[in-house]
Amino acid sequence: MVCIADMSLVRRGDVIFVPPMEPIVARLTASVFRALGYGAEVLAQTPETLAAGLACTSGGECLPCPATIGSMLTTIEARGLDPARVVFFMPSTCGPCRFGQYATLADMAFARRGWDGVRVLAINSENSYGGLGSRGRKLLWHAIVVSDIMRKIVLKHRPYEDEPGAIDRATEEWTERAAAEIETPAPDLAAVLRGYAAAVAATPCTPRPKPKIGLVGEIYVRNDPFTNNGVIRVIEDLGGEVLASSIGEWVLFCNAVEGFRTWTSSTFRRGRLTQLLERAWFLSVERKYARAVRRFIEDREEPDVMDVIAAGEPYVPREFHTETILTVGRAMLFVARDKVDAIVNASPMFCMPGTISASIFARIEKEHGIPIISTFYDGSGDPNKTLAPYLHYLVERAQAGAAAHSAR
Ligand code: SF4
Repeated sequence: MVCIADMSLVRRGDVIFVPPMEPIVARLTASVFRALGYGAEVLAQTPETLAAGLACTSGGECLPCPATIGSMLTTIEARGLDPARVVFFMPSTCGPCRFGQYATLADMAFARRGWDGVRVLAINSENSYGGLGSRGRKLLWHAIVVSDIMRKIVLKHRPYEDEPGAIDRATEEWTERAAAEIETPAPDLAAVLRGYAAAVAATPCTPRPKPKIGLVGEIYVRNDPFTNNGVIRVIEDLGGEVLASSIGEWVLFCNAVEGFRTWTSSTFRRGRLTQLLERAWFLSVERKYARAVRRFIEDREEPDVMDVIAAGEPYVPREFHTETILTVGRAMLFVARDKVDAIVNASPMFCMPGTISASIFARIEKEHGIPIISTFYDGSGDPNKTLAPYLHYLVERAQAGAAAHSAR
């Protein structure tokens, strides 16, 4: 296997496979690669692909590892692809967790099958994913922001739809349109977002009292309906409405970490200036799309990542550059700013930042008197079962509160 950090070793005619993670962003990311002139598809994930991944790992790895490796192996084998023409997109990060080892484990699995030359495109957060090149990075950020906003709209409306499946059908149609738009020479994704919002607005919905649940946790598992056993659907089916951490939050966090580093670096001026310019650009894109559908998401506005970090800092030092501070900080803002009724912290079993977050949440739960449910996934059983009693109580409380309010 060859680990590549930029696009220079990807050839025309190769196929880049994107991990499935969050369904909208995965499809838009594949479109970004196609817009750059490469073949690209989203990896399939099934119980069989997961079994293939578990069979070639030791069992102690966190779930995204066997999930992604199993999908890669099965894709090559089931479709008879030439391993030398395949590229797997696996954005990586440095820091005190296992993510940096995924590519090594994938390499061992490929070697056992005698495959040489499989490439893993492991662009790194250390340089804000600069390995994608300027156009690729820009397009990818647009894709991430648009998919985050589309998901906010889904989550806000789907629990109240009168016809089950109507919001999902609209989302499916407009995700396809967004993906096609990205591949045009001058994509107008704001127009696509406006079209999507209008389609959702035309879908009959009935407001009902429902508890609001903030979803935080490890980025892959909290976003991937396959590995988290459809946790968002489960909460909705149990009568709740989900407010979820965004994917863009991680990119802005990496940028913020770069800023902390450059404060103390000898290349302070240049590094700090670059970081500030990048942050300004990231935020300007966020504002542009938020403006396009303000009416729909003004109560779901993304907090500044510096506020998320500040909210997590009483519990986790900012020098500890893992997801823990984001998980804790965003949970705190869901409670203080968005007034959620409970938090779900979804992480893979054995996830190091997830486990640390869960231990901190025990203290926050006591301090703030709000239920915080940590669910850990390893590909077996049904961890979401623990949500049912919480949601039962929270739904009853929301309905009783609404009844008391209307009796006044
Ligand atoms: S964040 Fe958690 S799940 Fe992700 S690689 Fe690190 S330890 Fe594994």
